[in-house]
Amino acid sequence: MKNLKNALLLKQLYQLKQLGFNYTSVFPYKEEESNLLLPNTLEKLKKQALECHLCELSKSRTHVVFGEGDPHAALMFVGEAPGSSEDSMGKPFVGRSGELLTKMIENVLHLKRENVYIANIVKCRPPNNRTPTPIEAHTCQPYLLKQIELIKPKLIVALGATAYHYLTGDETPISKIRGILQQQENYTIIPTYHPSYLLRNPSAKKEVFDDLLKVAVLMKSKL
Ligand code: URA
Repeated sequence: MKNLKNALLLKQLYQLKQLGFNYTSVFPYKEEESNLLLPNTLEKLKKQALECHLCELSKSRTHVVFGEGDPHAALMFVGEAPGSSEDSMGKPFVGRSGELLTKMIENVLHLKRENVYIANIVKCRPPNNRTPTPIEAHTCQPYLLKQIELIKPKLIVALGATAYHYLTGDETPISKIRGILQQQENYTIIPTYHPSYLLRNPSAKKEVFDDLLKVAVLMKSKL
């Protein structure tokens, strides 16, 4: 865990360097180590994320979309990035693809939306809804990893290729990997198509339905 934290810290330092900050061997102020780590409660983590300016997306956002739902949810959904409705409201999946995701949760899984947790790979809207760049995704990643560490879900549904790629590091196309369980150290990931893909390709709903049936079975089992 310490190695992971150090790796994430190092990654942030490289990203700061890319943003124009320079290394200095003179430590300008004394910072407690605990202040350099992300907070250990969701409320404090959210407060920190709401003030984040670590990447370019912070310049054009209206709201940071931290994520929402049951802080102890056993099931978590991770999408790609907020869109325009999410950016206006500060909540994840509240636009057209959000309506579809909510229907999937309620009508297929027979759960309430507030009983799961919903977040994204990046917490700020990319201009024109473009895919987040690797720098943006990696800069934001510590927030998502900390959310996962604090919420402790049993199962994470990765919605679409971007979510799957940044959650696992695997670049297998989503069409080849969807529905296949990926066991991680503390949780399982199941990739499926993103709801916005389903809005454009309704015939893929059948495959997502099959993936969600797997989710329902897994949620009933002990995993
Ligand atoms: N698409 C996403 O990936 N996330 C959202 O929150 C909304 C749309």
